[in-house]
Amino acid sequence: MRISENINEILLDIKKHSPTPERVNLIAVTKYVDTEIIKEVLQGGAYILGENKVQVLTKKHEELWDFPIKHKWHFIGNLQKNKVKYIANFIDMIHSVNKLSLALEINKRAKENNRIIDVLIEINLFQEESKEGYNYQDFLTDIPTLLTLENIRIKGLMTMAPYTENEELIRNGFKELRKLKNELNTLYFNNSLTELSMGMSNDYKIALEEGATFIRVGSKIFE
Ligand SMILES: *Cc1c(COP(=O)(O)O)cnc(C)c1O
Repeated sequence: MRISENINEILLDIKKHSPTPERVNLIAVTKYVDTEIIKEVLQGGAYILGENKVQVLTKKHEELWDFPIKHKWHFIGNLQKNKVKYIANFIDMIHSVNKLSLALEINKRAKENNRIIDVLIEINLFQEESKEGYNYQDFLTDIPTLLTLENIRIKGLMTMAPYTENEELIRNGFKELRKLKNELNTLYFNNSLTELSMGMSNDYKIALEEGATFIRVGSKIFE
């Protein structure tokens, strides 16, 4: 593995493909590797780590909490309500809020920990290909309630493109997510939605061109 070379290449791609590179953060998705390898990721210059399974995340968090290189953990996968309590005291951001009941649970556990947890709303833009994410109409219905939750801060939107060679389909989805963020900012959020989490190893350049502020890259770092 050429971890630090791969990270450098991705950081250069951010400068090359994003219209606002200073606003973009790389999330190193470490679900494929164990803690010893994650140390190389931190030494290679990526400081936000992403995981999609609660049990694995809590284990790695404990193993790394006193590692001298400062880092943050983002939760990026499907999150079961009954597991929120295990990450609520340390998680820096949850990218995958996909229903009101999950938001209510995160709010409750954040409050118990005297925290405000940053979250993104995962929108399902590729209905035929995926079942993950909030249906957009359901999200619109829930916004008044979501806006009353004092211990979560909705910072933006997230989506996952299907694995496909069809770049046009992917690009249109990412464009759509940016458009929805702008509309929501005008109608409900008073420009407080600042983040777009979109793009993985095979499509992060497209996502950067379309305004991603978080790219979630895994396999490309470890190839
Ligand atoms: C695994 C995963 C990624 C990273 O995917 P790669 O193709 O390995 O870069 C990004 N986002 C989510 C939600 C994931 O589960």
